[in-house]
Amino acid sequence: MNIDIFPKKDLLDKWRRDTKWYETAAGEPPKCLRCGRAMPSKISHCALSRYIDVQICPECGTEEAMLDWDGKALPLRNWHAAQNAEASVAPVEGEVTLMPTCGFPEVFEQPRREVWGHPNGFPMSELCYARADHDGYRWHTTWTRCQDLPKDAALIGEVDGLYGALLALPEFQTLHTLRKMCRNCAEIVAEEDPNTYNLFAETPHFHVWLRLITRERDYNLYCHYYYKAQPTEKTA
Ligand SMILES: [Zn+2]
Repeated sequence: MNIDIFPKKDLLDKWRRDTKWYETAAGEPPKCLRCGRAMPSKISHCALSRYIDVQICPECGTEEAMLDWDGKALPLRNWHAAQNAEASVAPVEGEVTLMPTCGFPEVFEQPRREVWGHPNGFPMSELCYARADHDGYRWHTTWTRCQDLPKDAALIGEVDGLYGALLALPEFQTLHTLRKMCRNCAEIVAEEDPNTYNLFAETPHFHVWLRLITRERDYNLYCHYYYKAQPTEKTA
C-alpha cells in the first residue's frame, strides 16, 4: 500500500514539471511553490526546501530557516501552490492519502460500544486500534480490539497493510522526523500544545484516524480503524 502525505505528491509533481523550464528557459520562469513569486532564472540561485525535496526562492529559503530556528514551519498545505490548486494530482487507486482534515466527522457522533477496561467505550463502527511508542530505535505496538474481528481475511489485511506502510514511511522513522512531518502536514489539536496532532485517511473499507503525540516517553501514535459499513457476516 502506498501512502501519500497531502500535499507532498502534488508539490513534488508540480516541481518536476517546473524544473523543465530550467532546461529550455523559454517563457516566464516558474513561480515559487511556497510563496508564488517568480523563481530565480538560475537553478543555482534557488534554495532547497528543508521540508520537501523541491527548490524554492531564496527569500523562502531564509524564511524557512528562521522559522525552523523557532521550531515552526509554514505547513505545506498553506504553500501558494497547494492553496491555489495549481498542483493537484489525480488520486491513484491503491494509494492512501493522509489528510489534515477529517472527512468522516459522523463517526465521532455514533453511539459508543462498551469495551472491558474502557469505561468510555468506542464508536460503534470502530474495529480496533493500534497504540504505539517509539523508543528512539523502533516502534512498539499494542492492538486493542473493539469488537469481534471480521471473518474476511482481506479486511484484516487492509488494517495490517496500512499500518505496516505507515511505519515504513521515512517520516515515521524517528520522533524527530515525525515531529517535522506533523508541523508541516498534520492538524494541530490545540495551539498551546505543540506536540499533539491529527491525520485522517481512508482505505477501501475503513476510515482511519491517527493521533500523533511527538513527546518522548509517551505513547506516540494511535491508529483507529472504523468500518465504513459494518460487515453483515455472523461472527459467532
Ligand atoms: Zn518563495
